[in-house]
Amino acid sequence: MTVRSIRFRLTAWYAGLLSVVIIALGALLFFHIKSYLEDTLLETQARRARQISDTLVTNAGKTGEAYVAREVAALYDPEKSDRFIRITSRDGRLVYRSGVPVSQAFDPAAVPAAPPSQLEEFTRKQPIAAGPALLIAAVRAGAGGTSYLVEVGTSAAPVETMFHHLLLLLGLGLPIVAALAASGGYILIRRTLRPVDEIAGKAEQITQHNLGERLPVPATGDELESLSVALNRMITRLDDAFLNSKRFVADASHELRTPLTILRGELESMVQEDGVPGPQRERIGGLLEEVERLSMIVERLFALSRLDAGEAQSEWVRFDLAELVATTAGQMTLLAEDRRIAVTCDAGSPVMVQGDRSRLKQVVVNLLDNAIKYTPEGGAVRLRVFAAQGLAVLEVIDTGVGIPPEDLPRIFHRFFRVDRTRSQHPEGAGLGLAIVESICNANRGEVEVESVPNKGSCFRVKLPLAA
Ligand code: ADP
Repeated sequence: MTVRSIRFRLTAWYAGLLSVVIIALGALLFFHIKSYLEDTLLETQARRARQISDTLVTNAGKTGEAYVAREVAALYDPEKSDRFIRITSRDGRLVYRSGVPVSQAFDPAAVPAAPPSQLEEFTRKQPIAAGPALLIAAVRAGAGGTSYLVEVGTSAAPVETMFHHLLLLLGLGLPIVAALAASGGYILIRRTLRPVDEIAGKAEQITQHNLGERLPVPATGDELESLSVALNRMITRLDDAFLNSKRFVADASHELRTPLTILRGELESMVQEDGVPGPQRERIGGLLEEVERLSMIVERLFALSRLDAGEAQSEWVRFDLAELVATTAGQMTLLAEDRRIAVTCDAGSPVMVQGDRSRLKQVVVNLLDNAIKYTPEGGAVRLRVFAAQGLAVLEVIDTGVGIPPEDLPRIFHRFFRVDRTRSQHPEGAGLGLAIVESICNANRGEVEVESVPNKGSCFRVKLPLAA
């Protein structure tokens, strides 16, 4: 899964949003619960302080302060119940103060005096040096002309503990919830986007050779369905355009053949006529060469258009490729000898293939013709035919001019010629290798090339071996 994929981005957005919402809601909830619990605890302390004040402190004038202190200690037992109780008179005299609680959560002697306040009742959160704060409620009570301050407090430890537990729960639960949400979301998004992968996979396979095929149309009724329908319409239009251009080339080359044959015939008879002056005869000879070149181009275009139309299978036979290559090489030795090029052929044992024999002969002719044409005098051309890995392989290796690496990808394109050689070989049209490739493809094979400039080239044809 790449980070730029829609799947990843949607899942990340979904999981991120969920985590933020959970954290925000959790924080809100925690602080609400915390303040609610603290308020409730303070309210309980205030009630107790009121009780002490109403039942004991207000009677201090009659009963005496020592009695009040004794009664508070006996009735409320603050040390055992982890409570802090302190009663002070208006002038700051200590009437009663509870002892260190069993839990040792705080030291009552270290709790500072209450801050000055005009209120009858007030509360405060008293921080403790090491540990949770004390929640203290204070109530004023008057007795015998003196006023007392009754303070009752308890440790905020239970609230803090609950807060820590909730925090732990969120810390552990959030990653689990986020992971569950992310994986669930990912599966959902992947299922939704699966048709995109299928459409992309099929689109990759469609080339100019199989424009009749169409993309799958998911019956989802959503944008994906309309997208593949629209893409399929586009492929139909491309298919029509390709067919039209192929038909045009086929028709044009077909129509040109007859007038060119007539033209050539006329020029040939003119050249042979008696009484034609020398210079004129030369001009007609030049014209004849051009007409022949034109005829060759038209013939090759016509051959390509027939291959495009899938006519290669018309003559499907089983034959020995080694034998075909050896005979063709033999027929072309004269051409090579003219240019003092040594042609050798390693095609000893039979290599059986199935295909269009005469068209495959054309492949050998074109490759050998090029090898001879683009190899300087005195060079060598070697033909090899062998079977390897279930394939019949033909190699045409020369010690010629080679092909620059930047031109290699275009070498099989129609009308492509390496510029450097154009002036030296004006007879070529750049269609020979295009025909080779078309024939190989039509025979379920392929052709590839390796070349080093000024060293030589190796054209390799691979065909399936006959069963
Ligand atoms: P052409 O009729 O020009 O030979 P091809 O299609 O047969 O057309 O070849 C295309 C171009 O590829 C040629 O113009 C030539 O530049 C280059 N080429 C083909 N075969 C060879 C080779 N064996 N060595 C060097 N260059 C080659």
